[in-house]
Amino acid sequence: MCGIIGIFQRDKKSESASRLAVLGLFAEQHRGQESCGIAYFDGQKIQLIKKMGLVKEVFNEKILEDMHSHIAIGHVRYPTKGTSDIGNAQPHIFSNLSGPMFALASNGDIVNYQELRDELESKDVFFESDNDGELILKYIAYYHEKQGLSIVDSIKNVMRHFQGSYSAVLLIKDELYAFRDPYSNRPFIFGELDDGTYVFASESCSIDIIRAEFKKEVSPSEIIHVSGNGMRSIQLNPEEFRDRKHTAHCVFELIYFSRPDSVVYNHAVYAFREILGKKLAEKEDIIADVVIPVPDSSNFIALGYAKELGIDFNFGLIRNHYVGRTFIAPEQTIRDENVSQKFNPLPGYLKGKKVTLIDDSIVRGTTLRKIIKMVRNHGAKEVHVRIGSPMVKYSCYYGIDTPTMEELIANQKTVEDIAAFLQADSLRYLTVPELKSLIKDNNDFCFACFDGNYPIHLKE
Ligand code: SF4
Repeated sequence: MCGIIGIFQRDKKSESASRLAVLGLFAEQHRGQESCGIAYFDGQKIQLIKKMGLVKEVFNEKILEDMHSHIAIGHVRYPTKGTSDIGNAQPHIFSNLSGPMFALASNGDIVNYQELRDELESKDVFFESDNDGELILKYIAYYHEKQGLSIVDSIKNVMRHFQGSYSAVLLIKDELYAFRDPYSNRPFIFGELDDGTYVFASESCSIDIIRAEFKKEVSPSEIIHVSGNGMRSIQLNPEEFRDRKHTAHCVFELIYFSRPDSVVYNHAVYAFREILGKKLAEKEDIIADVVIPVPDSSNFIALGYAKELGIDFNFGLIRNHYVGRTFIAPEQTIRDENVSQKFNPLPGYLKGKKVTLIDDSIVRGTTLRKIIKMVRNHGAKEVHVRIGSPMVKYSCYYGIDTPTMEELIANQKTVEDIAAFLQADSLRYLTVPELKSLIKDNNDFCFACFDGNYPIHLKE
């Protein structure tokens, strides 16, 4: 997943771009909690600060005091490819003999990573990480520095050869480039502050926090260049760079990843989730005493479901917000520890109740199984589970941590078997046609983890 931000202040004396970037990253913390970083141009050279940990831990006031710049990019990391260490943290820097030249932060995964890396390594390009962002950066740097291509042509070259998902910001001294893959798989938006500051971010909640106004989504295969001369948009024909007519927006951003107060692919996320719940309710034949979400990403799905059926809705499970999101912790051992620390039922509330528990999805099933056990242990007499998305049967190769099909419970078991594993009294998912019926422009979306139709070629 990951989150990115890019800030360009037209007034060079403003010097608060790094601070704004940190604030924007703070709003995107849900997109990655492993590491974070900011690269900025201090008037002389590019500076980089990146560390393992949360934004608020890494960027304290003392550090911020020294980060004077009118231009900055930033990143929060959720590891998919590559280990969870500082080497794979972003932004990445490319330096030549005169020092750091370029910095880049990206969101997404490159499917043909190894092939492209081999190509560059055969040309004596050296890599310091296993990270897709470094590959994009070095590809651009190589074609610009060694082959003499302009930056725009080097980015076009990326679009021509890279298969996968990337929204990216590239800092070159006091200029900024923002570009998005032709499939527009991950969200990427552009906003502007009253004083003319340009903002690029993964999610609109990030530009809201810095009081910027949403202007537009960065278009598929668009390159936006901002410099002292203003902004220019280079609109390339995305169909030149992709092998299908449509984009492939990740539908899971709407279901789970993005914050409910964001607008993603022109859909208000909270409203979309309420509609998922409403759809789930349409076929309901079990009326519970209370509807309880697995917080937080299921809250609006449960609300929509309960409203439609006229059933009580309550936050029967309280989430400890100081524990990371279960799904995006990198290893199973960490996930397992997190579950029991993360949720606690309201004392006495569940006793004797017939409960419908709403979750956004089931990936491995281990978390939900423990939650159901917890709900039963607190006295619930029945636990019916409703899932606001179809069965996750296939791995994602575009930036989500589901590396093998075997890890996905729905790839291995039927609905009945999953219900038995979860120890749920009943279990129902949305179907793929039901989900698609809720999205008018559904041809522009990726549903591959549900239906196995991968819209972006898989070479590895
Ligand atoms: S496979 Fe699933 S998670 Fe991955 S991009 Fe497609 S919809 Fe999103």
